[in-house]
Amino acid sequence: MALKLPIYMDHAATTPCDPRVVEAMLPFFTEKFGNAGSRNHRFGWEAEEGVDAARQHAAALIGADEKCIIFTSGSTESNNLAIKGAAYMYEKAPAGSRSRGHIVSCIIEHKAVLDPVKRLVKEGFDATFIEPPSDGVITADMVKAAMRDDTILVTIMWANNEIGTVNEVRQIGALCKQRGVLFHTDATQWTGKMPVNVDADNIDLLSWSGHKIYGPKGVGALYVRRQRPRVRLQSLLDGGGQERGFRSGTLNVPGIVGFGKACEIAKAEMHRDAERLSHLRHRLETEITARLDSCAINGHREKRLPHITNISFGFVEGEGLMMAVKNIACSSGSACTSASLEPSYVLKGLGVGDELAHSSLRLSLGRWTTDEQIDYAIEEISKAVKKLRTMSPLYDMHKEGIDLSKVEWAHH
Ligand SMILES: *Cc1c(COP(=O)(O)O)cnc(C)c1O
Repeated sequence: MALKLPIYMDHAATTPCDPRVVEAMLPFFTEKFGNAGSRNHRFGWEAEEGVDAARQHAAALIGADEKCIIFTSGSTESNNLAIKGAAYMYEKAPAGSRSRGHIVSCIIEHKAVLDPVKRLVKEGFDATFIEPPSDGVITADMVKAAMRDDTILVTIMWANNEIGTVNEVRQIGALCKQRGVLFHTDATQWTGKMPVNVDADNIDLLSWSGHKIYGPKGVGALYVRRQRPRVRLQSLLDGGGQERGFRSGTLNVPGIVGFGKACEIAKAEMHRDAERLSHLRHRLETEITARLDSCAINGHREKRLPHITNISFGFVEGEGLMMAVKNIACSSGSACTSASLEPSYVLKGLGVGDELAHSSLRLSLGRWTTDEQIDYAIEEISKAVKKLRTMSPLYDMHKEGIDLSKVEWAHH
């Protein structure tokens, strides 16, 4: 069968909705359209039943009690609620502290963590942003070194969205627990792909999102620990008092039902998916690096999610590379800001040079990625890089053995 183009290898950006998810959602747009807050009639009860079942599936996915699940509009909102909500609730008295309170995070977090923390700094909180080593993995020792006696919150992502690296979450959580500091993790890339147990993993607050786990966009959840310790948050949205006052607003019932279904499927199928995708990724990486010299895989080679790879190609120009692989939907190491193309701050944070960051590709595989698509990506990428290198005088010099030590493509 002919391959349908373009192929999708950008599952870290978003995933298609699983058809089983869509099917579960459909009745909640039409016959079961009630407001889950309507207590007096069947329409409300049906909607509430849908939400309750979804809450159970969401809780089961992370080993939590369902009372700890707050539905939100996605991970951006969950992160904002966790970080700002905790900061405002646990801020220090001005007399006893250097600042309103200190927060520990990391420079390669998602913007949906960095920007809430930066806003808090503008408002008088203090923050330390850990700089990762070149493998991208944040350890408990790094967090320990960043902590102060006025630290109120640590927010470190579980797995990085650009390079797929996995941080020492359980150990960081244990450290925070021992110090009596709250621990939030943006687990958007990890949850639903790999196992979570909020108790064993020592997590107080955890964010995840529907559209990264084959559910709908615009819906997600925040786990908020209720025991040992009972975490309190200042709400960001005030109104009808839904979600136990943490998040007012009429519940997005179809979205929540879809999110719950996505969690249920993920719990049942994540191991199989991870196993299959790790083989596909292995083939993708080994074939590409066998066919091409001067390319480097970014981030720790083992402590990584199984379905993401981020590869830098020396001696090619970033924009040319993206154009040449336009039949492969993936992300580049360039971030579009309003004015220009900026190299990815995540790759820069690992010490990858600007040029090489621009000529990097993030390929992220998913539930419906096929062997044929992997074959196609191997062929297309190798072909494109080889062709672009025929136009590179630097590559000629490199091949002739001229020392190009200023060209830092090998950062390992
Ligand atoms: C996608 C993503 C987000 C944002 O999630 P939304 O649900 O789109 O708001 C936050 N953090 C990480 C790590 C992500 O990958």
